[in-house]
Amino acid sequence: MALVVQKYGGTSVANCRRIKRVAQKVIARKEEGDDVVVVLSAMAGQTNYLLGLAMEMQAQPDKRELDVLLSTGEQVTISLFSMAVKSLGHDARSFLGYQIPVETDDSHSKARIQNIPTDKLAEAIDKGIIPVVAGFQGVTTDGDITTLGRGGSDTTAVAVAVALGADVCEIYTDVDGVYTTDPNICPSARKIERISYEEMLEMASLGAKVLEIRSVEFAMRYGMPIHVRSSFTSAPGTMVVKEDESMEDVLVSSVTYSRDEARITVKKVPDRPGIAAMIFNPISEANIIVDMIIQNTRAGDLTDMTFTVPKADFDQAMSIVEKTAQDIGAESVAGDKNIAKVSIVGVGMRNHAGIASKMFDILAKHNVNILMISTSEIKVSCIIDEKYTELAVRALHEGFGLDKKE
Ligand code: ADP
Ligand code: ASP
Ligand code: MG
Repeated sequence: MALVVQKYGGTSVANCRRIKRVAQKVIARKEEGDDVVVVLSAMAGQTNYLLGLAMEMQAQPDKRELDVLLSTGEQVTISLFSMAVKSLGHDARSFLGYQIPVETDDSHSKARIQNIPTDKLAEAIDKGIIPVVAGFQGVTTDGDITTLGRGGSDTTAVAVAVALGADVCEIYTDVDGVYTTDPNICPSARKIERISYEEMLEMASLGAKVLEIRSVEFAMRYGMPIHVRSSFTSAPGTMVVKEDESMEDVLVSSVTYSRDEARITVKKVPDRPGIAAMIFNPISEANIIVDMIIQNTRAGDLTDMTFTVPKADFDQAMSIVEKTAQDIGAESVAGDKNIAKVSIVGVGMRNHAGIASKMFDILAKHNVNILMISTSEIKVSCIIDEKYTELAVRALHEGFGLDKKE
């Protein structure tokens, strides 16, 4: 008998028929003898719909109020799901974030989980009741509702699994595992049977939305195995686990892309000590994460500073940087939202030279211009014009031999 945390994403609970199917699936597992804790997302499209409503009220919605609004999506699915379970003769109880409570810090819209007491969940399990937890939401010590960032139900699921000491955290979604690239834009993508936490973490950070970044961080830190699988079939999916030797044989294991970043250039910045700190401190104080940074020296003692920020934070970052630019006497600030980041990931890269240059060759052969580059031990990323995203992903996927063998 195992203790399993199962998370179902938005497409799996997109309507009443699907919610009933998931209820049957969960009950079947329970009848096999396992204890199951369920974590649910909002119905597909619901969080975006709510976000749209908020934008009609305020161009940059108040973050506290936005969290109150966005957290309602999951309230709908957990209650409907619990009803579906009851209608099938089993018992379930829904739990909102504050009822458990999923304790978080107070950074609205990207809150971090700090603690999850397990007494209420354990009590329900002991009584044979299926606990049904609202994903994506938490509560601060002051009692304010928070959300964990888009895709955050994955993080709730892994954090609940860790807190309960579950045997595995199963993430049910609309694809049957983690693929060598997004199967929705590259039909020749292949399902990966096992992948290391480290590679999965890079993939998630670089845009593979199949798992949210923090869920992988949690799993890696506590050694919680994640099983990514389809809610529409019973086929085994992908196990995300500790790295083993066989994984190093593969130089490039996946290609990812992200259209979620934007580029900002501060032009003709006086090149003197302390300038970078003056530009980036106010951005980090606003809790905006800067990814790539490039400094290009011009003739004389002027420099251009180019960096990327999440698209969602672009407007706020631009207004901060425009003010800084004036303070430090820079010439101007330019922004570009039409960029994409394509990346290759693989633990095997650590011990091999020439992978990055092969990537540049492949992109060049397809006439894709590289705007920025960054590397780490197990990945290489290039910023390109957004309109070449799919072309670049497919070319890299084929070029590194990841295509399905017929
Ligand atoms: P859910 O709503 O179930 O959380 P998501 O949309 O967040 O589902 O994640 C699943 C989606 O992730 C897939 O439909 C697919 O388009 C996308 N995806 C991106 N990269 C990959 C990848 N390498 N492997 C599998 N899916 C990927
Ligand atoms: N409903 C939230 C979102 O759409 C959380 C999630 O689905 O994981 O981002
Ligand atoms: Mg998701």
